[in-house]
Amino acid sequence: MLNTKVIDLLNDQVNKELYSAYLYLDFYLYYESVSLDGYAAWYKKQAAEEVEHAEKIMQYLGENNIRTELKEIAKPNVEIKDIKDPLVLSLNHEKYVTSLIHNIYAAASEVNDYRTMQFMHWFIEEQLEEEVNAQANLDHYELYAKTDAGLYELNKAMLKSAK
Ligand code: MG
Repeated sequence: MLNTKVIDLLNDQVNKELYSAYLYLDFYLYYESVSLDGYAAWYKKQAAEEVEHAEKIMQYLGENNIRTELKEIAKPNVEIKDIKDPLVLSLNHEKYVTSLIHNIYAAASEVNDYRTMQFMHWFIEEQLEEEVNAQANLDHYELYAKTDAGLYELNKAMLKSAK
């Protein structure tokens, strides 16, 4: 039987992952609206991955005989003013998600919940990858998007990496 605090944190993380999907769908819609199909495709794919993260936790809870309680998903709490904004917001958001994942691990560790600690390893690794990608997207934008031709090429590269 899992510890109540650990269960609550995992249940909450399902909501946070679904919020991440919602946030990235917002970025997808923004890039669609400014005709940057590569960035749009990249965020659409990200959104689908976030739903998978939520499902992974739901499955884990289910395997431990806990039914996930689905809660309200908040409206994306961001204002996008230019092409760079979602890239900065993504990096900040992923750093925040990393802190949540680490919190769950710490809570599991506190009660010697080795099973959940083991389960969270995948998420800890995944968060490193998410931060690396978000940082790279921002760095590449700063480096190459100063000209229209540069942005055009970057968008094409994003489309390719979203496939
Ligand atoms: Mg995630």
